[in-house]
Amino acid sequence: MKTVHHRLARNTPGVSIELQSLHYGTPGRGPKATLQAALHADEIPGLLVAHHLRTRLAELDAEGRILGEIILVPVANPIGLTQRVLQAVEGRFDLTTGENFNRHYADLFDTVVKHVDGHLTADAAHNVALIRAALREGTAALPERNALESLRRTLLGLSVDADIVLDLHCDSEAVMHLYTETSVWPRVEPLARCLGVQVALLAEVSGDNPFDEACSTIWPRLAARFGAATPIPSACAAVTVELRGEADVSHDRAARDAQALIDYLAWQGVIAGAPAQLPAALCEPTPLAGSIPVTAPHGGVVVYLGDTGATVKAGERLADLVEPMTGDVTPLLSPVDGVVYARETRRFVPAGATVLRVAGREALRRGNLLTA
Ligand SMILES: [Zn+2]
Repeated sequence: MKTVHHRLARNTPGVSIELQSLHYGTPGRGPKATLQAALHADEIPGLLVAHHLRTRLAELDAEGRILGEIILVPVANPIGLTQRVLQAVEGRFDLTTGENFNRHYADLFDTVVKHVDGHLTADAAHNVALIRAALREGTAALPERNALESLRRTLLGLSVDADIVLDLHCDSEAVMHLYTETSVWPRVEPLARCLGVQVALLAEVSGDNPFDEACSTIWPRLAARFGAATPIPSACAAVTVELRGEADVSHDRAARDAQALIDYLAWQGVIAGAPAQLPAALCEPTPLAGSIPVTAPHGGVVVYLGDTGATVKAGERLADLVEPMTGDVTPLLSPVDGVVYARETRRFVPAGATVLRVAGREALRRGNLLTA
């Protein structure tokens, strides 16, 4: 195992921030997987899963059982972890720019097209190697004029040429769920089974270039651009894994989740000793455009009437919103048949806040599919 220290560009003289990556196995020998925790810095379950993972990966590395290369970034957002405002951590948005830490990753499409046009052949493996070289070069050339740009460039550089990218997040209160790009679902389905995912949300493009899509969506776009004579597979299965809710932090769960990730990597040939069979699937994938938010028509106290993970019918009463001044009670109803997979932790919400999200089967939404 090798630890690499990445010094990020400074925003302030005298204040330096470091990112660390832990490297296991041998680059170039087999498939490459990158895992990173808490890109949204206040999403803590991933930090504990990474802690359990590093112990297991060190053991596997010492036993020579890592067949490819694994990079683990145990703290993906040290900038966000330092952003304390009074007693709260603001880990989702960069306080300097106001930007979401998991949006606006570089779109390297034009750069790659320029590099590979005229050099692609009928050999898919040749094309993948060529495109990965262009992706590495394109990422290395990105600007890093401040800490945020530097963080994005560094993280992308670690993942952009990987076969598998697992970005570990969590929601407010939620069941285990994930987001991924539609064309890689067959390679992500075993991950869903290993982790016990209850909702899998698929989109070709969800908008604003989050980290996983910066790694994955370029492949089907290049395939469409160059056509069938020069085959380009969806070579990067990148996934945003939502490790339940922000308070779901325990050794038991984290150890189980770490083992599930290792089982998946073994199933994909990155680690020796794949399980004989995988657990049964808990869900079919559904479109991200079918995930429908339930918003608060006015401010008030939220009283939930059921649990996350519940299968509900359209029109079913999911919560009451109590207006404490007028005494009015507004029932919040499910907009569709589906699964209540995430909901707000805070029990007082302002008007317009998203209170719950229900994953339905029908793609009803258009445009940008992610929350701010
Ligand atoms: Zn997140």
